[in-house]
Amino acid sequence: MRPFEYERPEDPAGAVATMVKPGSTYLAGGTNLVDLMKLGVATPDRLVDVGGLPYRDVETFDGGGVRIGALVSNTDLARHPVVAAAYPAVAEAVLAGASGQLRNRATVGGNLLQRTRCRYFQDVTKACNKRDPGSGCDARAGEHHDLAILGASEQCIATNPSDLAVALSMVDASVQYLGPHGPAAISVHDLYRRPGDRPDLDTNLPPGSLITGVVLPDCPLATGSRYRKVRDRASFAFAAGSIAAAVDVRDGVVHDVRIAWGAVAHLPWRAWAAERALRGAPATAESFAAAADAELAGAKPLRDNGYKIPLLRNLTVELLREMTEATP
Ligand code: SF4
Repeated sequence: MRPFEYERPEDPAGAVATMVKPGSTYLAGGTNLVDLMKLGVATPDRLVDVGGLPYRDVETFDGGGVRIGALVSNTDLARHPVVAAAYPAVAEAVLAGASGQLRNRATVGGNLLQRTRCRYFQDVTKACNKRDPGSGCDARAGEHHDLAILGASEQCIATNPSDLAVALSMVDASVQYLGPHGPAAISVHDLYRRPGDRPDLDTNLPPGSLITGVVLPDCPLATGSRYRKVRDRASFAFAAGSIAAAVDVRDGVVHDVRIAWGAVAHLPWRAWAAERALRGAPATAESFAAAADAELAGAKPLRDNGYKIPLLRNLTVELLREMTEATP
């Protein structure tokens, strides 16, 4: 076993100050980090346990909107009555991830910062630019059926594993954090990044930042939102493809729509082109398929993950068809 120090700061400022020490890593639920430590992928010199910090509340705002503390468990988030009623896709996404035991332990902040499940990232004997910059990417010629078709780079084709992040992208959530220069917030669209030539970086958070909460803005459209996930087995698996969507149809025409996809890119993929194609279009399966194709036009599948193109198209058509057929 590799020795490491353990600290449990009493306040958020103390946590950020401790993180300045080289080799420090935040610990919350530990459901991803501890696994990576066992595998030798994460080798921290110091764990900064933030589990005792005051971020376990869900606040609702009078004008609509919700603030979720970073240490709210995934289970408590999914069960929160306001979240379940006003943002059902968020609750469904959380419940689609992991097992009940893991959801009890895992936190919202940790969910957003979990690392890719690319098998080469998790195997220290393999070449991986994310784990060991400059070493190469064994996934390109190897096993990549579950990896990215959109927004990838020569250096990395990893996917973001979070179901929650997909739903948060759909509702335009923002992430609050405490950085070395004080409190700040970042749109979930800017939180995550494409791998480019720095796949070792998962997010645009300043180094040492502590996520403190997530804000879901008032979004009437989201009250009818849904999350749908396709995976290799019925339980406890990461997505092969997923979608969070909300749609407003008036007189048979799409008035407004939001679509985000999961398991297709290094980040939750907001399908902006598909949304543009759908607004003002008839709410038909043909329109939904054309919109998905507009988004997928930029896909660059590899040898074994091209199935994701029809998967995402069909997932989008089927979910939007179900949602619009249910519209009075
Ligand atoms: Fe590493 Fe990314 Fe290549 Fe996977 S896809 S081996 S995470 S560089």
